[in-house]
Amino acid sequence: MTDNALTLFNSLTRKAEAFTPVHPGEARVYSCGPTVYNYPHIGNMRAYVFADILGRVLTWKGYELTHVINITDVGHLTDDADAGEDKMEKMAAARSQSIWDIAEHYTQAYWADVAALNIRQPAQWTIATDYIEKMIAFAERIAPKHCYELDSGLYFDVSTVADYGRLARAVTEDGEGRIEAVDGKRNPQDFAIWRKTSAGETRQMEWDSPWGRGAPGWHLECSVMSGEVLGFPFDIHTGGIDHREIHHPNEIAQNQAFCECGGSGSMSLADAANSGARIWMHNNFLVERSGKMSKSSGEFLRLQLLIDKGYHPLAYRMLCLQAHYRSELEFSWDGLGAALVRLKRLLSAARPLLGSVDDGATLAQAQAAVTHPKLVPLLEKFDAALADDLNTPVALTVLEEAVAVKKVDQAQKGALVGAMMSALGLPLPDREALRLRPKGAQIDEEEIGDILARRKTARANRDFALSDALRDELAAKGVEVMDGDPLGWEWKLA
Ligand code: AMP
Ligand code: ZN
Repeated sequence: MTDNALTLFNSLTRKAEAFTPVHPGEARVYSCGPTVYNYPHIGNMRAYVFADILGRVLTWKGYELTHVINITDVGHLTDDADAGEDKMEKMAAARSQSIWDIAEHYTQAYWADVAALNIRQPAQWTIATDYIEKMIAFAERIAPKHCYELDSGLYFDVSTVADYGRLARAVTEDGEGRIEAVDGKRNPQDFAIWRKTSAGETRQMEWDSPWGRGAPGWHLECSVMSGEVLGFPFDIHTGGIDHREIHHPNEIAQNQAFCECGGSGSMSLADAANSGARIWMHNNFLVERSGKMSKSSGEFLRLQLLIDKGYHPLAYRMLCLQAHYRSELEFSWDGLGAALVRLKRLLSAARPLLGSVDDGATLAQAQAAVTHPKLVPLLEKFDAALADDLNTPVALTVLEEAVAVKKVDQAQKGALVGAMMSALGLPLPDREALRLRPKGAQIDEEEIGDILARRKTARANRDFALSDALRDELAAKGVEVMDGDPLGWEWKLA
């Protein structure tokens, strides 16, 4: 295997394919970003941990990465197809707030989660409302051959492109039942490119266009921002698996239309590059059985809730790494607790080996630093796991093997472990920073330290009754004393 060989699963062909960049030495990646009408839930954040891993592995393999993530601040309806209300307008109306303030607040909240999960900054965040003129220009170019106008707006006729819906593999004679009928649509799957503000409707966000005052369709936004910044065709387009069904097939149809303008109209998807991107990748869902992930359910599972309960956010990153991105991942508090313990173990073993983890490690750098015969096979195994469609669960176990390997050059071992942690996006926070106090805890670290010190003295004086009483006092406040813990932790919150 050559050093930059990388196999990725392409949802469009449903095959694992060798990654061959469009521009030699480069990797251009677009990830569908959040609709900023509410906080992201931790399932949403799985999509960005996945995109981050993809980017880190491309860097690891020596490609110069350009990653773009968009922020959707207009146009996404409550249904991914053409039904429902605009999510942003709906939230702004419910709160009696300006839509711009809503977008600003939730964009900042999303960025805070991005930072807490050690997701690298993309080269560019594209904000949908910054691209309205470009969206209108894109729509004008494809409209003559591919679109038609109805009272409610400009619609894309999916029968005008070859292989519509190939990505979803779900097109039936009647179309998908859940797509709401709009009077006059030629095909059930036709979708709005531009939505006109209807008489009597008030919108905070609307713009003039050749098809009347209104707002762009959500699918149009991603086609325009990805093509504009990365150029068609670019290398990889990512999103959650729900996007494989409607959003991405519609983006692909628009991209085909845009790229073949003036051409024959039969640009087949047998050549994946005609879709706008060579590879379409989708992360599977994080699932939670009790329904707390739904944003409409009051207290939903967002990263801050995990932090408030005393789980370091990197425990959630660890949980994601433990599963392959194409597998469903079931969330449970026990699972998160186990991921936190695994993370603490890993970091306490790594800490004596290295001071910090540099971002952006590459395989070539690691190969130059690691020559010891016990370490080289571990580096190869780790690299092979990542190159095999980002197999992070296996890569993690190889990292654990590397921290445990004995009788090797410590500097080389540190270089290897640091490189592996960088590729997986695991930093090295201070030991104490990993222990978060739950919001509801009734005791602070200072008080715990004080009681533990008194207990130590009592034990030195062989006053076991007092020692036990102090232990009980801590237990009553939710603190468990951990005598003889192999990692040297003196206490934990029960
Ligand atoms: P949205 O803000 O709804 O556009 O979603 C942002 C991203 O999260 C998209 O890529 C979705 O496909 C993805 N997503 C939504 N729900 C989940 C989930 N439960 N698990 C993983 N990814 C998800
Ligand atoms: Zn998108």
